[in-house]
Amino acid sequence: MTGRLARCLAGLLLGMALASPAAAFTVFACEPEWAALTRTLLPQARVHVATHAGQDPHHIEARPALIAQLRSADLAICTGAALEAGWLPVLQQRAANAKTREVFFAADQVELIDPQPGAIGSPWAGDVHAEGNPHLHTDPAKLLEVANALAERLQQALPAEKAAIEQRRQAFERDWKARMAQWAQRAAPLKGQRVAAQHSTFGYLWRWLGITQVADLEPRPGMAPTPGHLQRLLEGLRATPPMAVVVASYQDNRPGRWLTTQLSASTSGRPGVAVPLLELPATVGENAAAPELMRWMDELLDTLLKARTR
Ligand SMILES: [Zn+2]
Repeated sequence: MTGRLARCLAGLLLGMALASPAAAFTVFACEPEWAALTRTLLPQARVHVATHAGQDPHHIEARPALIAQLRSADLAICTGAALEAGWLPVLQQRAANAKTREVFFAADQVELIDPQPGAIGSPWAGDVHAEGNPHLHTDPAKLLEVANALAERLQQALPAEKAAIEQRRQAFERDWKARMAQWAQRAAPLKGQRVAAQHSTFGYLWRWLGITQVADLEPRPGMAPTPGHLQRLLEGLRATPPMAVVVASYQDNRPGRWLTTQLSASTSGRPGVAVPLLELPATVGENAAAPELMRWMDELLDTLLKARTR
């Protein structure tokens, strides 16, 4: 093949790729886990991710860059259940994009845990998760439910890609279910364990693993830990020490560190007890797809199992 012909062919192929609606399809994902599912189901899509693992997804600034990303999107996928209530509506209003007026909310695809209807109308309503705990991606079974619903939504948007998306959905389901069986088996020693944690970030994971969160470092959901509240928790945790104190890696770890330091100190002649402070990543990296989701879950279990065998 002559060089000119090869260049010509390459140009033609590139043109075809650019002309493909799937390649031009742009997705705005509020959190990295939904970006990862999107890349798994539609690898050729352009994906913008609004937040990263080091950020608190409850509190994000509606920056101009995010507005521009939402403006260019064909589909927005977010957690919902009011997790993004403090910033997504502002982005939607400023982006004025008819295609993302309706958002694909993961929380609408699954049954949520711990609704707190009494909180509706209170000044804390946005933070206390009145509709239920929105951090559902830490339950592998619910993550799979969202993947299935997202596949359907993408197929509606791109009918020409229907078969390819279905193929990738099936492959993901097969691999994810195989991993879920491994995780369940490996995590068996965690069943019945107790943890203290900051916020309900891993509430779904605890439920899936059979772990009980016996204390929340937040005095009320969404409110930063206070010295008085931590002092009160300390008494109870000293009496029956938890397996670990857990914070998400985006959270300030000082309250958790204070608690574990206090627990390890002897008091009134009683020896202290060593309770590890675990800082768990609340999600995957910004460029993640299915393998990173699996590694993230592996990492969560590894860290918890290590704390269990101490
Ligand atoms: Zn939350």
